[in-house]
Amino acid sequence: VTERLKTPRGTRDLSGEEVAVIAGIEDAARALAIHYGFEEIRTPIFESQSLFERSVGDETDIVAKELYRFVDRKGRPLALRPEGTAGVVRAYIEHAMAARGGATKLYYAGPMFRYERPQGGRYRQFLQIGFEFFGATGVTADFEIIDLAWRLLERLSVKAGLRVNHLGCAACREAFSRALVDHFAARREALCGDCVRRLEKKPLRLLDCKVPACRAIAGDAPSIGLCATCRAENDVLHDLLRGSGIAFTADATLVRGLDYYTGIVFEMTSAKLGAQDAVLGGGRYDNLVADLGGAAVPAVGFAVGVDRLASIILAEPAASPPRAPLLYVIGLKPEGLAEAARLTRILRRWHEKRTLAASARPDWIEMGHGERSLKARLKEADRLGAAYVAIIGEDEVANGTTMIREMGHGGQAVVALRELKEGAIGEAILATMERLTEERLR
Ligand code: ATP
Ligand code: MG
Repeated sequence: VTERLKTPRGTRDLSGEEVAVIAGIEDAARALAIHYGFEEIRTPIFESQSLFERSVGDETDIVAKELYRFVDRKGRPLALRPEGTAGVVRAYIEHAMAARGGATKLYYAGPMFRYERPQGGRYRQFLQIGFEFFGATGVTADFEIIDLAWRLLERLSVKAGLRVNHLGCAACREAFSRALVDHFAARREALCGDCVRRLEKKPLRLLDCKVPACRAIAGDAPSIGLCATCRAENDVLHDLLRGSGIAFTADATLVRGLDYYTGIVFEMTSAKLGAQDAVLGGGRYDNLVADLGGAAVPAVGFAVGVDRLASIILAEPAASPPRAPLLYVIGLKPEGLAEAARLTRILRRWHEKRTLAASARPDWIEMGHGERSLKARLKEADRLGAAYVAIIGEDEVANGTTMIREMGHGGQAVVALRELKEGAIGEAILATMERLTEERLR
């Protein structure tokens, strides 16, 4: 027996409606990138392991537990990217983009990989779209990024709740870390092994351990006390959000599962999503560029989970009717098929020009290939939802014509192709189709 081949656990094939919705999300992101001044960047899907250890952080779940690590044939330690920011920052430094001066705004879209337990809304390969704003000085830059994230969901008619928090500056975090260590160290025996280690290395990570006992202790942990500067910044952000009608809640427990965040962080969640309810997340990372060997460049960004966004949209009743051919061309017998292929080619070129400017989601010209009966062809045209067919049988080949028929109504008319210039065929057939419909409605 041969083994049945399947997609690896936690991965899936994307097709049909789902892929159309995903492409729509990508289009919306691309359009917004233009309006907000972001340029696309495409970085490799694998990078050196140390990039993620040094950016996302080796104490985070993403790196400690979920990273797809491998060595290549020369023994180089590599990893599939678990998120997009690290690679974009590496590229920003590698290509000395800071030297261009001013802000650099980049966005990306592509697959990410995390070795997680697959469940609804959680995959081992998933899609993210992210925006990164380098040289993002001041809280208005945080606002611009949150507004962009909000606008993206708004464009896609997806409702989400926004939570924001401020992780403070280095000075605020120093004091906060000490307070956290005091709080958790007092209950050291109850902590998991990871958290005992975090106590020494990364106190902030104590707040997003998934172990229930640790979570309980995190529940009554002290919250961060912001210095006057950070508090003022936070107030400005809240004012800007309120003034723009962007509903949010301030949530002091929001820390996010990556090490590189420094100031304002945010997350959007959807009630339509079940347990995995996070749609997008982001925040400020003012030290990451310098930490990875670049200049001191403040930055802020976010990433949206495209699979989860698509599942929200797919759960809504279909907004647009399924795409269907405008015309289905039927050739009978080898001679009819050859004529049909020629006609199809001419019509496609005409139709391409005609619909290019007019419609974002045009219909198209389809043709039935291979010798089949007229009955089988009409059935296929019906299945595709074509409103009209153009038939070329023996008579039509002999006369240099095609028979246009309105599907489901039976009205038909002959178009004399031989008498027309190639450039006039499309309009002549379209006029015939419209006339058939008009006559029926009369
Ligand atoms: P979660 O809390 O759901 O694990 P996260 O905090 O790990 O999310 P981020 O690293 O902030 O996620 O990534 C941004 C977005 O990417 C998330 O809000 C989510 O929509 C999506 N995402 C993250 N991990 C997965 C996954 N394994 N499968 C599908 N989407 C994911
Ligand atoms: Mg996660």
